[in-house]
Amino acid sequence: MVIKSISLQNYRNYRTLSLDFDPDTNIFYGDNAQGKTNILEAVYVSGTSRSHRSSKDRELICFSEEEAHICTVFEKKGILHKIDMHLRKNKTKGIAIDGVPIRKASELFGLIHFVFFSPEDLSIIKNGPAERRHFLDSELCQLDKVYLYQLSNYNKVVLQRNKLLKELYLHPDYREVLDVLDMQLVQYGSALIQRRQTFAEELGEIVHRIHSQLSGGQEEMELKYEPNVTVDAFAQMLFANRERDMRLKTTATGPHRDDISFVVNGVDIRKFGSQGQQRTAALSLKLSEIELVKRLIGDTPVLLLDDVLSELDSGRQNYLLNSIENIQTLITCTGLDEFVNHRFSINRIYKVTDGSVTVEN
Ligand code: ATP
Ligand code: MG
Repeated sequence: MVIKSISLQNYRNYRTLSLDFDPDTNIFYGDNAQGKTNILEAVYVSGTSRSHRSSKDRELICFSEEEAHICTVFEKKGILHKIDMHLRKNKTKGIAIDGVPIRKASELFGLIHFVFFSPEDLSIIKNGPAERRHFLDSELCQLDKVYLYQLSNYNKVVLQRNKLLKELYLHPDYREVLDVLDMQLVQYGSALIQRRQTFAEELGEIVHRIHSQLSGGQEEMELKYEPNVTVDAFAQMLFANRERDMRLKTTATGPHRDDISFVVNGVDIRKFGSQGQQRTAALSLKLSEIELVKRLIGDTPVLLLDDVLSELDSGRQNYLLNSIENIQTLITCTGLDEFVNHRFSINRIYKVTDGSVTVEN
């Protein structure tokens, strides 16, 4: 899969920008705060409808403007496609694929596959379980439309159930509704648990291999799915915890409380890993994602690397740069020094200066 071009209007610090990308490696360099990350973000937003660093569309629109526009052309299995996205300050965004408007932003999922690696990915390893669930869900939603459907139904039922738990003391006769919601929760939730389990097993196997190579055989990493409840015990546990849920007015049982663990040489690095260990683990995870996406969709994802090279030692930089051949990559960095010592072919270099981009080669 290849992104051919992007054009932006009033997106963050870009008034207008039109860029063609090389099908291999594209490097964006420039000083801090010039607009490098904004380009990667715009590409990602146009393919997934959301930003990796902001949940509000209005933040993506250039200050003092009401609307922004992103147009992305990409090639998939030899066919060109176009995504047009209009972001509006006080309205929902408008999206069209090949000129045909879509009703739900989620219709974009699975169209372009991205692996996005940024320094914030460290939070997947070291922050709370919510970050790790978000990682699982965003990967699975890109890969599996059925999962997306089940997740959105499951989340709706959790919200309805929590709302009901808050009202039950006023309306004890609503208990029958709780029975119905519990059945739905178990139905959608069980599907999520099963899918997460198989995904974690597949990813875990690749992570183990890549992490061992990345650490020069020094470290063994295990990725394990930690379900809050198993499929077999779900209905029973939900019922057993009902009185407590009613007291606390929230649903304590189900995959919305899941986690995944990362154990390196027997140590849980979520809590006890060094900064370097956590960073390497995040890198293994992202490199594994590339392989898993290739395996599951039979096509290469587009790799977005935001400012990651400067954080890695030269051994890890080498490993990363060597493993990204034959995949379109957009890299941001503040200088080109990192590339000087690598036998690495850069296909196109762009200099980014205060919301404008010039091609240097
Ligand atoms: P760094 O090297 O520090 O990561 P960068 O080149 O990646 O820098 P970006 O994150 O792309 O920088 O941001 C560039 C500039 O865009 C920042 O100065 C920021 O203030 C500006 N910016 C962010 N949002 C908007 C917006 N909605 N409208 C106008 N400018 C914005
Ligand atoms: Mg940046």
